[in-house]
This record gives sequence, structure tokens and C-alpha cells, in this order.
Amino acid sequence: MLHINEHYLKLQASYLFSDIAKRVAAFQDANPDMDIIKLGIGDVTRALPGACVAAFHKAVDEMATDAGFHGYGPEQGYAFLREAIAKHDFQARGADISADEIFVSDGAKCDTGNFQELFSTDARVAIPDPVYPVYLDTNVMAGRTGEFRDGRYEGVVYLDSTKENNYVPELPSEPVDLIYLCFPNNPTGSTITKEQLKTWVDYAREEKALILFDAAYEAFIRDDSLPHSIYEIEGAREVAVEFRSFSKNAGFTGTRCAYTVVPRECVAYDSQGNRQPIHPLWNRRHCTKFNGVSYPVQRAAEAVYSDEGKAQIRELVGYYLNNADLIAKAVGELGFEYVGGKNSPYIWIWGDRDSWEFFDLLLNKAGVVCTPGAGFGKCGQGYIRLSAFNSYENVARAMERIRQALA
Ligand SMILES: *Cc1c(COP(=O)(O)O)cnc(C)c1O
Repeated sequence: MLHINEHYLKLQASYLFSDIAKRVAAFQDANPDMDIIKLGIGDVTRALPGACVAAFHKAVDEMATDAGFHGYGPEQGYAFLREAIAKHDFQARGADISADEIFVSDGAKCDTGNFQELFSTDARVAIPDPVYPVYLDTNVMAGRTGEFRDGRYEGVVYLDSTKENNYVPELPSEPVDLIYLCFPNNPTGSTITKEQLKTWVDYAREEKALILFDAAYEAFIRDDSLPHSIYEIEGAREVAVEFRSFSKNAGFTGTRCAYTVVPRECVAYDSQGNRQPIHPLWNRRHCTKFNGVSYPVQRAAEAVYSDEGKAQIRELVGYYLNNADLIAKAVGELGFEYVGGKNSPYIWIWGDRDSWEFFDLLLNKAGVVCTPGAGFGKCGQGYIRLSAFNSYENVARAMERIRQALA
């Protein structure tokens, strides 16, 4: 008889986006003429940058000739892309990362979800609340948690992000081995300073822990004092893995390309207490279970680092940041407490009422869809998330409607 992995039975069905869809559909049925504005889901809305499209086309044309055809490529990614990443995203910022420490993949979702496979099932895991659900659910699947009770999984060390700590969690009061951090943060839009990030790096070094740092929104940072990469912090090469994606900077959510940085110095320990480098283990896992990102997509990603591509991405991200600024100003003028909207496409708003009640209010009175904060964890209760991923015109109309509905 075949038994299933019972840890899957502990997973809480995520009704978040289907519940949102149901409420939106019911409202639309009752108000067929209302044009609903969606500031909910975290997907980009604007076209791929021209430089990426041109490189993509060119690579497809190469594939159409026997001479230019590419079959299986290196699982870790083509050297042209890994070298461009190391040079422009790290070395240019003074972070000492080399091309052979970069693993190109089809998404930061998969990478942040898969990385925990390298560690023992009794590793103690620290996960932010509110959170991008992938970190938590993949650890549940792996059996690193107990049951779900009172809104939380047993055995997880939750890192509360609240108004009191300005949405940057404090160090855990109990020992942990694996730490997930995400800055600029999804869903809160909060950022972390170099000094704050250094306390985490120092903690991980002290505890022989590892930080999994998700920097998917790095391109939204405009404040030069904020770290774009954890490797801008001294000592991070020994205790941090970083995840990046072309989804939010270059609009690759439907094109799929991302990468993970695993420095040579990162280690975990075997049962004898010997240091085991993580790089060869991730390399082994990646080569065994993954067969590379398509050649045209890697060429399109490489174009992100051309002069033309860089300018286009700055404009693209700047467009969303301008939307975020408009949202932040409007909610501030309405008297709401919020965080984010700067150096981030997300605005996290304290509604001072149940998240779903606030969601219904905005939908029914303004025809605007947000994401209820409670869907991201216990600490999200009472909040909603608004996203800047829409046209400027729609964002402006949405904020005007919210103003009229709540005034
Ligand atoms: C969007 C997002 C990613 C990127 O995911 P991809 O699989 O690369 O599209 C990673 N982490 C967070 C927190 C995100 O919001």
C-alpha cells in the first residue's frame, strides 16, 4: 500500500486568492456596469523592455538555424548571463561574488521553495510573519513543523513584523538554524538598513545559522543608503544565500528567469559537526533536478544589463514607484497608518478593523480590489496590501474613488 507524505495534510488550503475572486465576482454580478480596479495581485502589468524583446527575438532566430541552434545548456546557466550578473549586480556594488557562485533558474519561487531540501528535517526554522507563503509551506511539506493550531504551525519560530518594530523583525529569542528574510518586503513594502541587516549576519555567524535572503524587489530601491544585496554586509559570504529574479525588475513573471547566489564559503554541519560547503550540494541538486532555462530567455535576461536595458528597467520600475508614491500619499492624506510605497511596489495599510472587512469596504464602496493582510499570516490581521502594479490612470482613479468613499 502506498502511503502519502502526511506532512502535506497539515497544509492550510490557501483560499486567499480564490476568496478574493469570489467576492469580486459577486460584486461584479450585482454591479455589472462597475469597472473594478485591481490593486491586489503581485504581478507586473507592463510590457517587457525593448532591449529584452530584441535579444529574445534574435536568439529565437538563431535557434532557427542549424549553426545557431542550442540544445541543453549548462544547468547552472550560460556563462554570458552568469558573468553579467556577477559583474553588474554584485561586483559593481562592491560585493565580492563570482560567476561560478550564480545558479540561473526559472524562478525565485522555486529556488526559495527548494533550497530547504539541503538541510536536515530537524533544522529549526525562523520565518517572518506576515510572509510570502512559499517559505512556510515548503517547510511544512518537508516535515519541519507540527500541526497548524490557532493560526500558526507548531515548531516554527515566527519573526513578527509589526508596527512596534517598524516591520523589521527582531532577532529570535530562541536558537534557530535557518532564517528567511525578504527585503524590500512582500507584503509589507518595508526595507532594512545595512545596520539592521548586519545584526542578522552577525547573529547567523554566532549561531552557525544560514540566512536565505530574498531580494526579488531589489530594483525598487532608490534610497542609496539601503543594501541591494546581503553581500554588501561584511561577513555575509559565510552565512547567506541570496535569491534574485527578473520577474519584478524586467517584467519576466511570464517569461521566467531568476537566479540564486551560493557563495563558496557558506557551510552547514554534518552529524559529526564537520563543516560541509553548501555550494556543491546546491550544484548537485540543481543539476539533478533542473535542466536549465531556455537559451532565448537567458539572452533576454542578459539584455537587462546592456546600457539600453538598464535605462529601460529604470524607467519601468520608476513607473511603478510613481504609482506607489501616489497610493502612499493618498492613504496618508486619508489618515491611515501605512508602511512601504518607497523603495517598494507595495503599501501595507493599517485599517484598524478586520482585514476582510476592510477589503469588502474598498470593494463595495470604491470598486477597488486589495489583498487582505490576514492572508499573509497572523500579524497581517487588520492590514491590507495595495500594489502599484497597474496603469497610472487606474491607480489615480482608484485613489480618487477611495477618497470619495471614505471621506
Ligand atoms: C514575486 C516574488 C518572487 C519572484 O518569483 P519568481 O518565481 O522569480 O517569479 C520571489 N519572492 C517574492 C517575495 C516575490 O514576491
